[in-house]
Amino acid sequence: MKKGIFFDRDGVLNDNVKKHVNKPEDLVLYEGVTEALKEASSAGYKIFIVTNQGGIELGHLTHEALGKIHECLRDQLSGYCEIEDIEYCPDFKKPSKYRKPEAGMILKLAEKHNIDLSQSWMVGDRDTDITAGIKAGCNTAKIGAIDERANINELMLERNKERKVDLEAVVSAIIIAE
Ligand SMILES: [Mg+2]
Repeated sequence: MKKGIFFDRDGVLNDNVKKHVNKPEDLVLYEGVTEALKEASSAGYKIFIVTNQGGIELGHLTHEALGKIHECLRDQLSGYCEIEDIEYCPDFKKPSKYRKPEAGMILKLAEKHNIDLSQSWMVGDRDTDITAGIKAGCNTAKIGAIDERANINELMLERNKERKVDLEAVVSAIIIAE
């Protein structure tokens, strides 16, 4: 079985504070993200993205528009790493076993790609990401405000303080924690 890292998208790979990502040009990666994903991939982790995209149910963007955004994301990462798969949940109000904090997206990807969840990680910036990771049986890493349930908290690491998010520090800590 293989091991993987499931990354939340917004607030982890890209900034979405100023505005929601509804078109490709809205997707601006944080500094160091390409290098962090390359490092994770070189360490033998399959790279996945699991993202709640309730904006689809709310009518802010379409499945097609999201597809274009993710094409742009893959383009920006080409030469650094291959994204194994991207799973998104378009639901917002509708009950869904896929929308985080539920673990459905992670479980679906693990099954499809033969991933050992006990050797894998969920990385996210919200409590709901950590809850989903724990429910799935992953290790977890939290970006931003401390979550005591997480195995790794970005703010407790030695990190580049010039960066809003230092994903390289998180990936290094994951590799050391193996
Ligand atoms: Mg997020």
